Amino acid sequence: MAAPLTLRDLHGRVMRDLRVSITDRCNFRCLYCLPETEEAANFYRGKFDALKNPQPAFTPLVREWKAKSALLTYEEIERIVRVAVGLGVEKVRITGGEPLLRRDVPELVARLAPIAGIRDLAMTTNGAYFAPHAAALRAAGLRRVSFSLDSLDQDNFKRITGRDGLRAVLAGIAQAKELGFAPVKVNAVVIRGLNDHELERLAQFAREQTVSLRFIEFMPLDSGHAWLRDLVVPGREILARLQARFDLCPVVSDNKSETAKRWTFEDGRGEIGIIAPVTEAFCGHCNRLRLTADGKIRTCLFSLHEHDLKPLLRGGATDAELAARLREIVLGKEDRHHIGEPGFEQPERTMSCIGG
Ligand code: SAM
Ligand code: SF4
Ligand code: SF4
Repeated sequence: MAAPLTLRDLHGRVMRDLRVSITDRCNFRCLYCLPETEEAANFYRGKFDALKNPQPAFTPLVREWKAKSALLTYEEIERIVRVAVGLGVEKVRITGGEPLLRRDVPELVARLAPIAGIRDLAMTTNGAYFAPHAAALRAAGLRRVSFSLDSLDQDNFKRITGRDGLRAVLAGIAQAKELGFAPVKVNAVVIRGLNDHELERLAQFAREQTVSLRFIEFMPLDSGHAWLRDLVVPGREILARLQARFDLCPVVSDNKSETAKRWTFEDGRGEIGIIAPVTEAFCGHCNRLRLTADGKIRTCLFSLHEHDLKPLLRGGATDAELAARLREIVLGKEDRHHIGEPGFEQPERTMSCIGG
């Protein structure tokens, strides 16, 4: 019998994880993703010696959202997911932008949840609108959700996200736990001088709320192009800080494609994870593909080229043709990122458009 077709790249990595962005819009303006103003984008100025960064790269922060007609419909998304699952994808994450800004997200969940072969269907959200949608999402078949929460201080939360939303996000997290979403994960992007003083408090929150709190290194994917190496708090430093405060036990995992290294607290309540794509890159085991809201496949967060599936989808291509195209696209997957190396080029699209 012939081996089943998979999405294998030229480096031997097999794609199992598809992140589907369903909108490029967002109601938040996180400094590290989609800052509202140039001043917000360059929040670090004054903290660092100007000589280190004599000519910060300023870009006008004009936003142009994709027109509705440019976005894939739920039918089109479902079709691509089915084809990808037929090629071995097992994990699907709905993301954005802020996915819950799109209408009828439970309808999309209800289309994806029954697809045989999906082992794990999850969503990443900033949480602001999660509570009112939680029950419908759960009923539609969503089992797992990750929230973004970078600060537990109301003022700092507002400074980082540009919005006064801490209370709503905390209500969303509480609601997710109550409805039995599991595990509930919380992502915090750590930025030096901005929220690194809250590391221990966030870890304590993981314990109190029995959630998995994952600290993420800041990557150069912000729309302000203001990323600086000095702003990255290395995963090792995060760990040392937390180990000084808590008794942490490493979680052993045989999943090589897992991006987070994880620890539990001594009493088993809550968990922390550290995702260090900048200082401890995990590209060698990367099994992820991304589908943008406007129908482009990105083989890497840092891809400079995208592959548009819309002409095939809207031009009458068969599923077999779509599958062949996906297999061909994956062959060109980048071996790794080049952050910090001479010639590194930040992609034009930001995390809010790529889908984290
Ligand atoms: N809006 C949703 C949210 O914030 O959860 C989903 C999309 S957001 C782009 C997905 C994840 O990307 C979030 O957890 C966010 O913190 C992370 N992210 C955004 N910009 C980032 C950056 N420059 N470096 C590292 N992570 C980033
Ligand atoms: Fe919006 Fe998420 Fe980006 Fe924040 S990280 S601006 S919530 S897309
Ligand atoms: Fe995968 Fe690219 Fe991220 Fe490396 S940088 S882990 S290749 S998406």
